[in-house]
Formats: sequence, structure tokens, C-alpha cells
Amino acid sequence: MQISLEKQVALVTGASSGLGYACAEALAAAGAAVVINYNSQQEPAEALADAIRQRGGKAVAVGGDVSDEKAVDALFAETIKHFGRLDILVANSGLQRDAPAGEMTLDEWNKVIQVNLTGQFLCARAALRQFRQQEKRPDVSRATGKIIHMSSVHQLIPWAGHINYAASKGGVDLLMRSLAQEVGEEHIRINAIAPGAIRTPINTEATEGEAEKKLLQLIPYGRVGDPEDVGNAVVWLASDLSDYVHGTTLFIDGGMSLYPGFRDNG
Ligand code: NAD
Repeated sequence: MQISLEKQVALVTGASSGLGYACAEALAAAGAAVVINYNSQQEPAEALADAIRQRGGKAVAVGGDVSDEKAVDALFAETIKHFGRLDILVANSGLQRDAPAGEMTLDEWNKVIQVNLTGQFLCARAALRQFRQQEKRPDVSRATGKIIHMSSVHQLIPWAGHINYAASKGGVDLLMRSLAQEVGEEHIRINAIAPGAIRTPINTEATEGEAEKKLLQLIPYGRVGDPEDVGNAVVWLASDLSDYVHGTTLFIDGGMSLYPGFRDNG
């Protein structure tokens, strides 16, 4: 079955690299007009927008720091200026500032919470406001707007040396589920994706050479994920094919969340 997102507008935050980039590409390939948000990496974001336009799609790159309230408002205003509406938000931006707990600075703690959690709140709030004020989609009686939060297996699996990151993703889980409970009756669909280990710039060291061999022991399915694994799932989760999926986290992790340590210790 072919999924079509034609006549829908998607905004993907942090889409200049990694998972956001793959999600923007996949949504555009499914026919959505795509806003490619970047923070500092304008060049790859503009190049992706160009490539999508050359293939006959609609795309624009728009800068903005998701942890800055005014910048988020400006990002959504630009989205409406370009494409007139918003149907799909992929709140993807995220980062790590790793340190052992006793050595973690307040700046490292705050930075991760501000981008990974507050950024998701600000973007979700802006999307809700837009969904409520715009005309409903003319062609279907399905969801009037969709928000997909990018979480992580670390909303579930504790992660020593990364307490700020794990706390931010644990927060995303309850942000997503509480929001889903609050706005479901408006037919606004809220879900999350929890990737495991996907090969992107955020984890280059962990996914190469000897480190990759060690990592594979944590992945029952036996391979590191590719950004397209997440992009494909985002297209489905944004489409009407998943219309009854609401308040759920979809783990895309090759089984990393199955406690693989127990496999050989029964
Ligand atoms: P990445 O470093 O390639 O991408 C992160 C993106 O977020 C970049 O485009 C960056 O510019 C953007 N960003 C950072 N700070 C920002 C800000 N203040 N405002 C706007 N954008 C900002 O890494 P990735 O792996 O593609 O990560 C994307 C998301 O997926 C993150 O939320 C991350 O936590 C999550 N995730 C990734 C993995 C993985 O294995 N790659 C696993 C679990 C979760």
C-alpha cells in the first residue's frame, strides 16, 4: 500500500543531519511539503531543501533554536508564511552533553533539558495552537494534526554517565502521554518514536570498529539501525494508516529494549 501525505505540511526540527534529515526526506518522498529546521548547520539543510525541490517536491530550510521561545514562534510563523498550514510536527532536535554525575556541570544539565525537553514542549505548544486555528483538512475526517516526539530507548533504559539525557527522554515520555490524554478528543494525534542505536553524528564513536562489536551485544536483531528505519516509521505514524495510534511510543531499536543481557543468562 502506497502512503500519500500529499496536501499536508510537515515541520521537522533538527533536520540538518541524522534522523531529522532522514525524516524530512521520507516525508517529502511521501508527498508532504516539508519545513527543514536547522540550528547552526544551514548548508546541509538548504542542500536538502534544494534536492527535494529538484525532485518536484516542496521544501524550505528555516533556522531556529528550539529551546528559544521567540525563535520557535518565528519558525512556526515562517512555516505558515511558506505553506499556509501545518499538519505534522516531528519534534526531533536533541543533543548530548555526557559526564559522570559527580562531574556534570549545571550548564551541561540545563543545556540538555532545554533542547531535548523544553524544546519539545515549545514546539508541541506552537503546533497545537496552529492546529486549532487553521481550517481542518478538507479531504478526510481523520486527525486534524499530528505530533511525533523523538524520544529514545533511554526513556526506559537507565544510562549511567548520561543522567541529563536519560532524564530529558523520560520527561518526553510523560510530556507525550499527558498531552495525548489532554488533546485526543480534538482529534490531534500525539505519539513518540524511541530509537535505539541508529548510525548518525550523535553516536559516531559508538557505532564504529570495536565499539560497534560491543554495541551489537545490546541489539538482538544484530545490526545498528539506519536513519531510514526511523524515516519510514515516521511516514507511517504521520499518515492516516495509523489513525487509531495515539499516546504510544514506537520503539525502533532492533530489540534493544528487550533486556538482551538476559538472553544468555537464563
Ligand atoms: P544529530 O546530532 O545528527 O541530530 C540532532 C539534530 O538536532 C541536529 O540537526 C542539530 O542541529 C539539532 N539541534 C541541536 N540543538 C538544537 C537546537 N537548540 N535547536 C534546533 N535544533 C537543534 O543526532 P540524531 O541521532 O539525528 O538525533 C536526533 C534525535 O534522535 C535526538 O532527539 C536524539 O536524542 C534522538 N535519538 C537518536 C538516537 C541515535 O541512535 N541516533 C537514538 C535515540 C534517540
